[in-house]
This record gives sequence, structure tokens and C-alpha cells, in this order.
Amino acid sequence: MTKRALVVIDLQEDFLPPNGSLAIQDGRTIVPAINELLCESELKKWDLVVASQDWHPANHTSFASQHAVSPFTELEFQNPETGETKTQVVWPDHCIQGTHGACFAPSFANKLEKVQNGAISKAVVIKKGYLQDREYYSCFQDSWGLHHTEMKSVLETNKIDEAVFVGLAYDYCVMHSAIDCAKSGFKTYVVKSLCKSVDPEKINDTDEMYRINGVIIVDSISEIID
Ligand SMILES: [Zn+2]
Repeated sequence: MTKRALVVIDLQEDFLPPNGSLAIQDGRTIVPAINELLCESELKKWDLVVASQDWHPANHTSFASQHAVSPFTELEFQNPETGETKTQVVWPDHCIQGTHGACFAPSFANKLEKVQNGAISKAVVIKKGYLQDREYYSCFQDSWGLHHTEMKSVLETNKIDEAVFVGLAYDYCVMHSAIDCAKSGFKTYVVKSLCKSVDPEKINDTDEMYRINGVIIVDSISEIID
């Protein structure tokens, strides 16, 4: 039997309209359909449910405010270990540990708690972004690949064969997480209708990034599971 994980990326208030500091257009519209996947009748599809949570200290280096520039500026960042540099976007302050903005959408939090307390599937929360000096898009590792979260070992411990990704944002954290998942050897799907992008105009480039990195794009769960 194929063992399957549902991975819900960053369904947190700061990424959701109308009040999120880094609200993704129409981000909240996908929440009800994701919640549906956690209903009792649907849970048998998942051996494991993972929810990732962006979880930054207030002075995180991915915040524009730390560099006295406007959000969405591109800046050069240095690898904390090797000194290598690369250009990354800086963001409005978001998902600061313990704040309302870091909380999951309430209806999703509710569903997740029910899964955690129930007997059908196992649910875990994976936090990322908590080391101050580096960006994290992937729930597996920081953007330099230096620090690894427990994500891979959670999938391995639960003997997961394939993972299905949904959430926010399609062109950042979902993409980097799904690509790392595929590269780690798991069969990896992304459900496009259950994601929203920061930059919807670049959707074709984003799709291509998924494809060349071995992630299967589907429009709905029914393409994967009956
Ligand atoms: Zn972040």
C-alpha cells in the first residue's frame, strides 16, 4: 500500500487577505477546500498530515525593515558559513513568532487539531524560518541548504512514499518545499487549484520550475486518488 502525506504549506494569517501583512491575492479562497481534505471521510487518503508554519524572530533577515529598504526589494545575501552570495527578495515583516499573523487560519487550525486528536491520521506541524540570519522557503531547509528541519525525517519515520502539496505560496514556499521533497526521493505532487501565487503573472515559469525538478502538477486531488 502506498503511504501518502498531505503537506499544507503556510496557511497562516499574514499570508491571507484581508489583513495579512504579506497577503497573497485570493489566498483565503483555498482554505475551505483544504479544510475539506481534513474531513473525516477524506482522512483515509492520508497516512500523515503535515502543516508547515513560517516562524520568524522579530528581527529576521528576510524582513525589509531590517535593511532599511522597501519590501520586495532584491538584496544580496551572504551564506552564513561560506560567504557565498546570492540575491533574494525582502518582505514585509510577517509570521513573527507568537503573533496573530503567525497563526494558522482559524478554520484550518480547528481541523488540524481534530486530526491531531483523532485516530485516523497522524498530524504534525513543522516550523521553519526560526534562525534569524537566513531565509527559508522550503519546509525542509533554509535557502542555503545548511540547516535542516525535521521534515525529511518525519516523512521517513512514517514510511511515506508520496506527498501531495497544497497551500501558499505556489511560487515560493510550496514550490521550494515540493522540489526538496522530490529531490529527497518521494513521489511528489502539487495541486495547483489549492495554491495561490505571489506573482500569478509568472505562472508558466513557476510551472516549469516544478516540472524540471520532478514535481507532478495536478489540478485536483481526484487525479491522484479516487
Ligand atoms: Zn517568511
